[in-house]
Amino acid sequence: MVAPSLSSLASRLPHGAVSMLEADRLAVSMDLWPRHILGLWSGKTPALPTAVVWPESTRDVQAIVAYAHATGTALVPYGAGSSVVGGASPTPGQLVVDLKRMARVLSIDDGARMARGCTSGQALSGGAVLSAGSWAFMMCVFAGAYAVAYFVRKFWN
Ligand SMILES: Cc1cc2nc3c(=O)[nH]c(=O)nc-3n(C[C@H](O)[C@H](O)[C@H](O)COP(=O)(O)OP(=O)(O)OC[C@H]3O[C@@H](n4cnc5c(N)ncnc54)[C@H](O)[C@@H]3O)c2cc1C
Repeated sequence: MVAPSLSSLASRLPHGAVSMLEADRLAVSMDLWPRHILGLWSGKTPALPTAVVWPESTRDVQAIVAYAHATGTALVPYGAGSSVVGGASPTPGQLVVDLKRMARVLSIDDGARMARGCTSGQALSGGAVLSAGSWAFMMCVFAGAYAVAYFVRKFWN
């Protein structure tokens, strides 16, 4: 079987859904991992993926996955690139699947309803925007942990 080309993938997707432009590849080349950011500051150019694709439907995603399977290409899903652990780090030869055009909310499950959007926001988001409430909360968390440690420290080796 002859491996399909990127242009054959483009022909199965909506117009403009595949880009090999350097600016587009650069935009999805990293997330907010501090090491990435420090690298940029020190003038290091990040590794760029071969191309970026923007699926709009499940059918588009199926076409992309079929292309990846046929060509042995690794896919890197990309949301907002706001992760801080370097997960979204494509390398040359890989294809970034940027999911921003699939922005419809289909359902909100019970877990999300219960958490009401609260994750580790007190420390990260609150800290980043210098929210006084978040800083006070985190001080209380650390002070509380220190106080509890006073009672349990004798069990430590
Ligand atoms: C200032 C700041 C504050 C933050 N505050 C919080 C906070 O309060 N709470 C919190 O939880 N996090 C916080 N974060 C972390 C970050 O926002 C989360 O990790 C966020 O959920 C990442 O989502 P993303 O769509 O940007 O993922 P990306 O960074 O694009 O991707 C993260 C990883 O998931 C993979 N991925 C992305 N989309 C998909 C998909 N559809 N299917 C499969 N894999 C996928 C990627 O390949 C990558 O490995 C904060 C980050 C910053 C910079």
